[in-house]
Amino acid sequence: MSELINFQVEPNQIWEEIETSTVQQAALDIGTAIARDINRSRLAAGLSAEGEEGPSPELLEPADAFVKVFGRPVRFLRKASSMGPTGFWGQAILRDLIWVHSNARHSSADDRIAAVSNRPQFAVHELGHAFENMLLDAVGQKKGRNSLPNSLANRTAGFFHLGRFQQSKDLGRGEIFADMFIGWVYDRWQLKNTNLLDGPLTDAGTARKKFMDDIMVDLIDAAMTHNKNP
Ligand SMILES: [Zn+2]
Repeated sequence: MSELINFQVEPNQIWEEIETSTVQQAALDIGTAIARDINRSRLAAGLSAEGEEGPSPELLEPADAFVKVFGRPVRFLRKASSMGPTGFWGQAILRDLIWVHSNARHSSADDRIAAVSNRPQFAVHELGHAFENMLLDAVGQKKGRNSLPNSLANRTAGFFHLGRFQQSKDLGRGEIFADMFIGWVYDRWQLKNTNLLDGPLTDAGTARKKFMDDIMVDLIDAAMTHNKNP
């Protein structure tokens, strides 16, 4: 399997194995979501071809899907800098570079206390920003945030009820898109019954899901084409 994430440190910083395995799993979760959507559309295209049987479509594996879309491994750099105890943890600097500041907790025995090791959503959110940075190369704009309709450019409804599915409170379109990228990866949106972990979605949940399911197929396609011929 190709390497998806490359871990680096500034002086006196470390990565704990428990957090690197979570970040790697987050990248694989993204690859799984890419493969899920691309394989579905390839199979649908094969089925709609009338009459004769064509060759069966080439189906993507998760790790391969991640590399084809991101184009190269993404570096996670543990920074010596701190944003303070309540400051943000991460910053996507380039399409292949994410800073994780020293105030980002490595691990936690209590799942209610967020740490890099127990919040794959944190890494997925940052990789959502990296994905947009890559789109800038591929199509000349951050087309995820730019396509977000006004009706979804808010945080009032539609997100899955666990707080970890919104890694930011910022109302900028880029942060909202990065959080919707989490929802798309895990296919988790606002439920009518939040006592459950699955079930019918609210109208706002359905609207966010539909926007992401539709646009991600196009964005992934543009990314894969670009990374084949950069
Ligand atoms: Zn962010």
